Amino acid sequence: MDKDIDAARWARVQAHDKTADGEFFYAVRTTGVFCRPSCPARTAKRANVIFYETAAGAEAAGYRPCRRCHPLAMEGRDPHGSLMQAMASFIVAHADERLSLERLAQEAGMSPFHFQRSFKAVIGVSPKDYQAAERLRRFKDRLRAGDTVLGATFEAGYGSTSRIYERVGDNLGMTPSAYRAGGAGERIVHAARETALGPLMMAATERGICFVQFGTCADALARQLAQEFPRAQLEPAAAGGSAELDAWMVALGDHLAGVAPRPDLPLDLRGTAFQISVWRLLMSVREGEVVSYSELAAGVGAPRAVRAAASACAANRVAVLIPCHRALRADGGLGGYRWGLERKRALLDAERAHRVAA
Ligand SMILES: [Zn+2]
Repeated sequence: MDKDIDAARWARVQAHDKTADGEFFYAVRTTGVFCRPSCPARTAKRANVIFYETAAGAEAAGYRPCRRCHPLAMEGRDPHGSLMQAMASFIVAHADERLSLERLAQEAGMSPFHFQRSFKAVIGVSPKDYQAAERLRRFKDRLRAGDTVLGATFEAGYGSTSRIYERVGDNLGMTPSAYRAGGAGERIVHAARETALGPLMMAATERGICFVQFGTCADALARQLAQEFPRAQLEPAAAGGSAELDAWMVALGDHLAGVAPRPDLPLDLRGTAFQISVWRLLMSVREGEVVSYSELAAGVGAPRAVRAAASACAANRVAVLIPCHRALRADGGLGGYRWGLERKRALLDAERAHRVAA
């Protein structure tokens, strides 16, 4: 029986079978080293090989982990996480390239499945998220250094060969299907107040703010909210009591009155992956600066989708906090604004003045 198992294991070792990684380990008497089944090193002689169920078993028998295939990383207990640290550095060095999981796994000498698992165990996030974060960091650095969005976009590797929106799609808590269902089963708390730019309604799910809009009056805004989330359970904050929403409203109101910076509040974004990537990009544009719709399109890796980028701005449901008012036409024209060009102009003027004063 054991012989049969060992024979099957030996066949997988000879085949460098990646799917066997994690199932067992093999040690080589002559070298004193133990490996994962897929180790790319030349296969030892069968007579010198002993199998172990766990890396701990091989270690207990006095074998050292192979430096080539890092069998301890398999169990997520590579003491220094050295291979995964090295892979993290590799991702940083190649952040502007398209790095598939397969390519990274190959680089690490592991199966995609185990690489993904080990990387996450050691680094804390998936390789894809790690690369996205690195790109975003560079992108923001470029913007801070005074680059235009377009320039920063290409410098950060968000060019036509890569797509920031891939990252956004599977990172966010939002689910497009839940949105399509009109917020079914969700509780949305809302409140309205008068601001420097007119009546404003803010509404939030448990995850964050999903609606900030200007309107003619609180009733019209409540109807608008009901239209956008027809199947959600809508509750006035005053009735249910939501200290959080009240505080958020005050913070935003102060900002609109020009006495406080734009508050950093939790958002629950609902939209397509493309829309959300455009909104995220808008949020990285500094106060007092503007971007063109074509820069936005290029910024999300879809330089031809200028009209779609403009539509994404128009579809923004979270005014001011997602600063779609900072998006202009390429010729500097104001373009459109869902809540009226007067408000757009007022917001931009206030931000410019604020920046000059700062
Ligand atoms: Zn090895």
